[in-house]
Amino acid sequence: MTKPALTLYLAAPRGFCAGVDRAIKIVEMAIAKWGAPVYVRHEIVHNKYVVDALRDKGAVFVEELAECPDDRPVIFSAHGVPKSVPRAAAARNMVFVDATCPLVSKVHIEAQRHSENGLQMIMIGHAGHPETVGTMGQLPEGEVLLVETVDDVANVQVRDAHKLAFVTQTTLSVDDTADIVAALQARFPAIVGPHKEDICYATTNRQEAVKAMAPQCDAMLVVGAPNSSNSQRLVEVGRKAGCDYAQLVMRAANIDWRALDGIRSVGVTAGASAPELLVNEVIDAFKERYDVRVEHVETATENVEFKVPRVLREPA
Ligand code: SF4
Repeated sequence: MTKPALTLYLAAPRGFCAGVDRAIKIVEMAIAKWGAPVYVRHEIVHNKYVVDALRDKGAVFVEELAECPDDRPVIFSAHGVPKSVPRAAAARNMVFVDATCPLVSKVHIEAQRHSENGLQMIMIGHAGHPETVGTMGQLPEGEVLLVETVDDVANVQVRDAHKLAFVTQTTLSVDDTADIVAALQARFPAIVGPHKEDICYATTNRQEAVKAMAPQCDAMLVVGAPNSSNSQRLVEVGRKAGCDYAQLVMRAANIDWRALDGIRSVGVTAGASAPELLVNEVIDAFKERYDVRVEHVETATENVEFKVPRVLREPA
């Protein structure tokens, strides 16, 4: 039986970013250096495949530091942690390694610097996301005000409209965040912020590739996890850019083939915490059912790499 023809648009950049790559390496190196078990506070990156693979090597994932014994090393996830967490680990004399992405740490430093200069902080982010919790936790409780939407901007109660600064979560929608920043600047003209926003290069580049790809796709699949903020944003960006059927899939087994019936083109991308192996699995699944022609949609090239912390580079 002849297979139907399908053009598969493959977005680039897609998948792993430098911060995720570094965080995974840190856990692997910690297990090699100290032996198993090595504890990891929160999923090191938001991907079940990655977490399961590290668990098989000897990582133990917990949500709170209190769940870790004093005598085993603990790694803090790429999303960042409130200041109270390393403080508590130090008080217990624990060996700990911070795998916070350097681009998240940069936002932490910004928030602290503005606060030291007497500015009240506003954070644009998603309530409860570990990165938001971590960034807000760089300052004492209640010092950072959270806004999630343009509507929140109208209601936020500040101490002094002339002494304000904002930071953002790194994995937000570039376009939605621009609207929130514009609303903040309209209400508080003196507000200080980063040059554009704190959205990282990986989030920006993956969204740009999706925008270029979406208008020509009958369907679009984003390989990623439901709790991955940047993956969820890729789905939204795809829909807004003209592909009505944009869906998140954790891996090939999750594809709803019935919903794809009759398509002639599909776009495939992956969130920053999704390994390429899962993308290849999705492409292979399409090749089983369709006569696939792959077209690459490349909007940027990336060559960012982050060093692992010194404590892991030293000989054991
Ligand atoms: S998505 Fe951006 S901020 Fe998050 S780990 Fe990757 S590079 Fe760092």
